[in-house]
Amino acid sequence: MDKKLLIDLSKFRDCGNKSCDITPPEGFFSHLTTTNGLKSIRELAVFSFTCRRCEDAPCINVCPTEALEKNDDGMIERHINLCISCKSCVTICPFGTMMSDFFDHHRKKDLYFDLSNDHEIKEFIKACPIGSVELVKMDEDPEKDIYKLNDKILVKEKNWSTDKS
Ligand code: SF4
Ligand code: SF4
Repeated sequence: MDKKLLIDLSKFRDCGNKSCDITPPEGFFSHLTTTNGLKSIRELAVFSFTCRRCEDAPCINVCPTEALEKNDDGMIERHINLCISCKSCVTICPFGTMMSDFFDHHRKKDLYFDLSNDHEIKEFIKACPIGSVELVKMDEDPEKDIYKLNDKILVKEKNWSTDKS
């Protein structure tokens, strides 16, 4: 079985809340780069698993530049080329979907690591908060809140759509 990256989103949130002494990096896959900008793995993860896909989405309504929209699957996407990093969407989301540091990264390209490249994967892990990302040999395991984002990435997150509490 090939190794996969397991990303624990709660550790990144803890890092933001406790003013960790590093700026968390971002991972992306070069083949997912679009005219809307780089598709960051953490942003894809929170919009896939954390976002509750509100019907009348407050984040879309508050955005002053129309940078957020729902795709055909109902998932929120951010057009990085339109986003002005005002963070109004972070403040208004009742579920804490987005993390503040997402909105600084497009100004700091050295914080991006291409996860298609083995060397950059190692550098990405080193740059992440301690214990937040590891290489594992396992598959999706919803009992442990571990979900598949794609063939190379697993995400650990409380998934609202399967939460029975
Ligand atoms: S307000 Fe939050 S939970 Fe609702 S659609 Fe926007 S990001 Fe998702
Ligand atoms: S941070 Fe970007 S996406 Fe969010 S409300 Fe502001 S402009 Fe819109």
